[in-house]
Amino acid sequence: MQSHRSSQAPRYAAAVPHEEEHRDITSGGPRAAIFGMSDGLVTNVSLILGFAGAHPAATVVRLAGLAGLVAGAFSMGAGEFLSMTVQRELFERELDIERRAIRDTPEGETEELVEIFRKKGLAPELARRLAIEVMSNPELALETHAREEFGVDPSALGSPIKASSASFVAFVIGAFLPLLPWLIGSGGGAITWSIVLGGAGAVTLGAVLGRLSGRSWWLGALRSLLVATLAAGVTFAVGRAVGAG
Ligand SMILES: [Zn+2]
Repeated sequence: MQSHRSSQAPRYAAAVPHEEEHRDITSGGPRAAIFGMSDGLVTNVSLILGFAGAHPAATVVRLAGLAGLVAGAFSMGAGEFLSMTVQRELFERELDIERRAIRDTPEGETEELVEIFRKKGLAPELARRLAIEVMSNPELALETHAREEFGVDPSALGSPIKASSASFVAFVIGAFLPLLPWLIGSGGGAITWSIVLGGAGAVTLGAVLGRLSGRSWWLGALRSLLVATLAAGVTFAVGRAVGAG
């Protein structure tokens, strides 16, 4: 359907890349999982070192780390669920419009496909034959229109529950790492181990992400370590300054 495409093109342009990210998560996308873990790691390393910098009792640091883990995981999970649900509803509504157009004005939709196939470089007769063939199968017709017009695969809209639980779990794993030393020990030893585990985690996640993105693993590791160090360093300094005052 031509009319809704032109009027809503900007919204699709914004929504489609986001949908791609989500699809990564629902298909167990390792990239999304690594990002979630990295989020949890950086958040909690910063939070824990920020509290530790103020030299409170170990129980306070432990409580802060635990609160950071729970709050962050729920916030990530809830945010993922809401954005995914809204997006699904949006795409489903657009699919409905397309489905109705295919049913009610098949001639116009056929012409639209002919145009799309011709733009891809097919000869006019072949484009028409292909368009007629596609339009003879309602499911295939809908899928083709959806893909070509707004880049969505109707069978892969993604599940909000799956996406949100994946985000939740990934964040928990990342946030748990720097918290672990405080469940066992306290003081300078726990601070050191939080830094070591946080640093090792950041390097590992960065390296894996670098490999998954097809870049060099050590560059990814270095960048991830730098970001984590910067975040943790700033909160440590703030904690120290406020704690001393
Ligand atoms: Zn259409």
